Amino acid sequence: MEHYSNYSLKQHNTFGLDARAKDFWIFDNPDELGGWLHNNQSGDQVLVIGGGSNLLFTKDYEGTILSPAFKGIEITAENGDDVWVRFAAGEEWDYCVEWAVERGLGGIENLSYIPGHAGAAPVQNIGAYGVEVADVLAFVEGFMLGDGTFFRKTREECDFDYRYSIFKGPLKNKVVVTGVVLRLSKNLKFLLDYGTVKDRVRSLGEPSLGNIRKAVVDIRKEKLPEPKVLGNAGSFFKNPVVTISFYQQLQEKWPDIPGYRLEAGKKVKVPAGWLIEKTGWKGREYGNAGVHKNQALVLINRGGATGSEIANLARAIQDDVLTTFNIELQPEVNFL
Ligand SMILES: Cc1cc2nc3c(=O)[nH]c(=O)nc-3n(C[C@H](O)[C@H](O)[C@H](O)COP(=O)(O)OP(=O)(O)OC[C@H]3O[C@@H](n4cnc5c(N)ncnc54)[C@H](O)[C@@H]3O)c2cc1C
Repeated sequence: MEHYSNYSLKQHNTFGLDARAKDFWIFDNPDELGGWLHNNQSGDQVLVIGGGSNLLFTKDYEGTILSPAFKGIEITAENGDDVWVRFAAGEEWDYCVEWAVERGLGGIENLSYIPGHAGAAPVQNIGAYGVEVADVLAFVEGFMLGDGTFFRKTREECDFDYRYSIFKGPLKNKVVVTGVVLRLSKNLKFLLDYGTVKDRVRSLGEPSLGNIRKAVVDIRKEKLPEPKVLGNAGSFFKNPVVTISFYQQLQEKWPDIPGYRLEAGKKVKVPAGWLIEKTGWKGREYGNAGVHKNQALVLINRGGATGSEIANLARAIQDDVLTTFNIELQPEVNFL
């Protein structure tokens, strides 16, 4: 366990913002959490951090940040084709995907190259190319910051939804996820019907875990800016979900508006990037912040931006989308 005061968060958030934390603790082992909790008399607000790829520090963090750096990947059970694997919270998510793909275990290959740590994966139920981590999640293991007990929650208990779980709702900042147990499979079922994945896989050869992973990594590298080069947190807003009747009203005014039917056709998910592009924000600069030139959903730190500058840009975009489409965009990124 290591402790730092007045600690720079620049290396701990993918926007590259130079905010500071009053206190920053790094844990190498879940067993250290009990001792820390017992001795913690500060009464400070607490934030658990992973790779900082879904955070926007709008100012210095005047509280305590806990960074679970636990490592380890182990197979915990096998039954026929099913294999349960525990990934410790501090493992890089993309390394977990690579580990599974190399061992012929399917289920998370479409989630390749998503930044961040395994412990954060269930928090917003990460998803990409038609797969969400909830699809394969067996258990989330963690530590309650209230009473210092360890818990194990099943998928049902996590209340997963689109970019949502109980850890983003009632348990936000109340637990440390110490690990996730995923139910992977040797019986491979490939999901290729999303975006350009199928064509990309075909260009590489037969569908296989390795080819899907390579296709997804290549597409993502082309589409999204590398945070180390251009600070960003991926999709800044969630794709809004509207009723079918409201979507039809939108279609009258905007015949080319894209939409994906959900819940047996009763709701429609509208790409937030399209809405932002239509309001003219794509590629625009806003002080040291801006909107990426190829991806309207990605807000960027062009160099030296502050968190509040990015937050103001986000607000300006939300206002314009509301005025134009009567849709309130909700941030996917956590504001601090
Ligand atoms: C270029 C780029 C592309 C992205 N693409 C995608 C994508 O395709 N799909 C997608 O879903 N997301 C995407 N994201 C968002 C991000 O990668 C995910 O949300 C990721 O899971 C965040 O992981 P993290 O470790 O960085 O979490 P952080 O940003 O550190 O934290 C995110 C939230 O989880 C909480 N948290 C983190 N770790 C723990 C823990 N151990 N216990 C309890 N709470 C915890 C934090 O308190 C915070 O509320 C992208 C981000 C970037 C920069």
